[in-house]
Amino acid sequence: MKFSHSLLSISFSLLLSGISLGQVTQETPPKKDQTNNTKNTEEPKEKIPLVPPRAIPVEDDEPEVKKLTPGVFIPSGGTATLTEQADIDLFTKGKDIGNVQNNPKLPYRRLVQRTMMPTEKRPSYGFTLTFDDQLVSETPSDGLAIDIVKDLAPLRARSIFFANVPMVSGKSVNGIMVRNKSSAKRLAACKKLLESKREEFIKIIRSLIRVKSPADANGNAEYACEVYNHTAFHQNMSRLKVGSDRYKMCIMGIEFIEECLDAAYLAERPGWERARYFRFPFLHAPKYAETKAALNKTFTELGLISLGETQDSKDFDNFSHKQAYASLMAAKQNKRYNPKYGKYGQTEKPIALFHTKTWPKIKRGVIKAIISK
Ligand SMILES: [Zn+2]
Repeated sequence: MKFSHSLLSISFSLLLSGISLGQVTQETPPKKDQTNNTKNTEEPKEKIPLVPPRAIPVEDDEPEVKKLTPGVFIPSGGTATLTEQADIDLFTKGKDIGNVQNNPKLPYRRLVQRTMMPTEKRPSYGFTLTFDDQLVSETPSDGLAIDIVKDLAPLRARSIFFANVPMVSGKSVNGIMVRNKSSAKRLAACKKLLESKREEFIKIIRSLIRVKSPADANGNAEYACEVYNHTAFHQNMSRLKVGSDRYKMCIMGIEFIEECLDAAYLAERPGWERARYFRFPFLHAPKYAETKAALNKTFTELGLISLGETQDSKDFDNFSHKQAYASLMAAKQNKRYNPKYGKYGQTEKPIALFHTKTWPKIKRGVIKAIISK
């Protein structure tokens, strides 16, 4: 893989900041309408002459670097989206790009929880829609991820899911802790439980990521959905201690989700190098310095970038379509939103956080915001 100067400098910054670029840049399988663009982003912008200028033949038959023309189809998640200055800033250590609470006194959140998705273009309707937790539910009144995708895809709106493993929770971890006395037995029980879910989980992910929005006038169709990592068990990670059994099970679960996502994407989108995002359950990053350092190392190895939000709907409190609508209308004006304080601060690429199961209750407000000017 060739790197442009800008990508190299990003890689360097990433090394400094301890975050891996490798998994962030996505190369989509070449299609005839995007090949030129992909090439463009990978070729150096300025060629450094190896010989003095006079010795260069007048007719240089080297192919020209093609300029990106408006109207060229860039699929969401393409490498080209990394060229924006904002995305370069994202990986520059010490650069203040905002954080979840917009409070500069939270250095760790600035380091780990980002509020931009470098691989997502800002859509025409103004905000990136993310949905957390279980993709499926046994409770009939709960929303399902596939319903969200089917409702939003016709509007050419993308649904981004942060998923846990179906039908397990923090209680599963507590149960494993109580029933097994040794570390080895606990980890084995955790592995067994996760393995029993693998096939079903991959199948659910596949059913989502294969959906496309209707093609535009040029025949280009976007994938309507992506799935990312929200831990297997939705544990609160704030008090995790490195080396503890709970920590090991948590990491095992995070790795398990990555494996299932890899398998699902490989099956549905061969050749697609997916982005890798992570969201902390309850947005709670670990408190302890040692845990933070270990986790940052794991994230780097897995290529995970932690994502926060700028448009908090607090829908788990009020299940309100009005709240959802208000937060998304604030996003259109580049404002962050908090249900308690209303609009505040500023955001260039608003990220809304909802919960998959609340979809039947918030759907009206989300769709109204998508279609309103
Ligand atoms: Zn969650």
